[in-house]
Amino acid sequence: TQSPSQTAPVTQTAPALSVPALPTDPFIEDLLAKMSVEEKVGQMTQLTIDVILKGNETTVVDAAKLRDVLVNHHIGSLLNVRNHAYTIDQWHQILTQIQNVATKETRHKIPVIYGIDAIHGANYLAGSTLFPHNIGMAATRNPALVNQSARITAIETRASGIPWNFDPVLDLGRQPLWPRFEETYGEDMFMAKTMGTAAITGYEKNGQGQDFTVASCMKHYLGYSLPASGKDRTPAYIPEQMLRELFLPPFKAAVEAGASTVMINSAEINGVPVHASKYYLTDILRNELGFQGVAVSDWEDVIRLHTRHRVASTPKEAVRMAVEAGLDMSMVPYDYSFYDHLIALVKEGTISEERINLSVRRILALKKKLGLFENAFPKPELKNRIQTAEFDKVAYQSSLESITLLKNEKQTLPLAKNSKILVVGPTANNLGALHSSWSYTWQGSDESQYPKKTQTVLQALIGKMGKANVISRAAADFNAPANYDVAQLKRDAAQAKAIVLCLGEKAYAESPGVIDDLTLDANQLALARAAKETGKPVILVLLEGRPRVISAIEPLADAVLMGYRPSTFGGAAIADVLVGDHNPEGVLPFTYPRHAGDVLLYDHKNSEEIREDVPNTYGNVGFNPQWQFGHGLSYTTFQFSDLRVNKTTFGATDELQITVKVKNTGSRAGSKAVDLFSRDHFASITPSAKRLRGFSKVNLQPGQEREVSFTLTAKDLAFVNQQGQWVTEPGAFDLMVGDQKTTITYQ
Ligand code: BGC
Repeated sequence: TQSPSQTAPVTQTAPALSVPALPTDPFIEDLLAKMSVEEKVGQMTQLTIDVILKGNETTVVDAAKLRDVLVNHHIGSLLNVRNHAYTIDQWHQILTQIQNVATKETRHKIPVIYGIDAIHGANYLAGSTLFPHNIGMAATRNPALVNQSARITAIETRASGIPWNFDPVLDLGRQPLWPRFEETYGEDMFMAKTMGTAAITGYEKNGQGQDFTVASCMKHYLGYSLPASGKDRTPAYIPEQMLRELFLPPFKAAVEAGASTVMINSAEINGVPVHASKYYLTDILRNELGFQGVAVSDWEDVIRLHTRHRVASTPKEAVRMAVEAGLDMSMVPYDYSFYDHLIALVKEGTISEERINLSVRRILALKKKLGLFENAFPKPELKNRIQTAEFDKVAYQSSLESITLLKNEKQTLPLAKNSKILVVGPTANNLGALHSSWSYTWQGSDESQYPKKTQTVLQALIGKMGKANVISRAAADFNAPANYDVAQLKRDAAQAKAIVLCLGEKAYAESPGVIDDLTLDANQLALARAAKETGKPVILVLLEGRPRVISAIEPLADAVLMGYRPSTFGGAAIADVLVGDHNPEGVLPFTYPRHAGDVLLYDHKNSEEIREDVPNTYGNVGFNPQWQFGHGLSYTTFQFSDLRVNKTTFGATDELQITVKVKNTGSRAGSKAVDLFSRDHFASITPSAKRLRGFSKVNLQPGQEREVSFTLTAKDLAFVNQQGQWVTEPGAFDLMVGDQKTTITYQ
């Protein structure tokens, strides 16, 4: 069945003008009326800081280059850093130089809007505390922490003089091979929507005023995260129904939450590069979602319509396609190709001046909203608002709440603080593995850049248990395990009560993180086997940005702790959990696959063949992941009871009040994440096995019981039908929390 939207044209020749108009602003209209085509196109052009830096210098601005960029080419936006994080003084110096020229030497004195990837913290500000990557933040099931971390990131970014952050990532982590999985809130749409809007509010509307907020950038619109090959920036094939039901809602919610800007997916969906798609960039983004903000390209992606996607036969044609599709600003970022071609296209009449006015208006409106016309300069008085003890506290708490206990046989954990342990493995003494992408450098692998307060797992364990209790052989070299033979390991383990085996992935970002196999490498398996052979209990600590298959390693471990990319206080948080100073409360925001070839997500289509209760009855078709979405253990035990709904039949206008009791039945205090799922009994398209509809978390003392409540309406149970419309079809639904289930009927 073809829905009308599936047959909608995805390329076009007419200028994209029929979009909801921005409210008229006399200040902007006045400015626009005075601007030349060159000046307007300059506003639509974004270049990297490299073009204004002197030679190989990392922070020294070349005054002549800067003038050429801003005065001769009227460039409106710059981005990024060169090679390392800058101190607050360096940022102030650089941005003061930039804004000095922009606001004093250019004809209209239009300030530059500087953009940065302040992802999981103000990572390009030297010494800043970093929060867990989104994948860990989703494991906390705590949107308030996401909101706080974004607020703090906004404060530190703005204090540096930078008003625009290319975050949050709203892509869904549904393809574990994809190297940017760690930047996502995991596989679920509702999670990405909830956490994403919490981040946007923290960036843009944190109640602290303009000096402490930044423009956010929802990215990467749309469908970036599901490359068929698993490689970064390669084609995705996503049916329209799935795009609308899973991939679009986080962006829709982000628009409603006030996201100021959007960044476009570098790749393509169903054969159509998103940068050339009027359907995605105008019909859906503008006309359906009502987005009024700025749409920026991703890195070098306009020219790639010609060089990579080959939908444009010339570079100039690439520029025409992107602008006509709906692009406002091109992250070029090295040269004037976009600028020159767009000027020519407007001058020859291929693209109307009216069309570029639309984009320039949005860009100027953004600069105005950010207060740049009043004062674009970094404010010295904000310098001392960064890196406070309060910020550290939020980061530490985020790391603590993210750490997820996946397995704990025979109460291997927690460890007694005075027991002796052997700590081994490539991620044990490795800062990169704790942080990965966007950590002071793009790849996060330059360990000299990390602040002093950052501890590795090994350092934190030594701090907790004392040097005498920690025997270590923690080679940071990922190839080293192969050289660590069983005899040596046995000798090292002889004194120890248990082995803390730290495995996982080194730091990477984007394409350098591409892998060919989900299975963790043979070196690490060899080390796990050697550890098992010692006969000592093995505690596996995983630092990884995506679920690497460990089916051969997991049986060798008595306990498994997932750290994700917990960042600055990640080592400390892991040590806290290992010794029981913190009772683990994180839960998986993705399905952990058991086999590299068996990646089936929690919300797979319901089917008799995919039985969850008897996973192996049907051979390979059983749903038998290593661990389920939402899995996470505690040092105490919890019991759910009395799942109730105020109405067993409900209509379109009814509010469903759903309650469930959670009791701490163990002997220590703990927090429990509570996920609410629903399932359609029957629907006009195959329903999912279950879908997340709400989540919450309760903290309980031993013996304490509390009621957790959720409010849902029929709309919250809707899905996208064959006609591309959101519908809630009459019939029965199961609601499920923990082991509780109840059935309700919509009529
Ligand atoms: C990434 C974006 C990022 C941009 C600017 C690109 O390679 O895909 O997420 O915002 O670079 O650094």
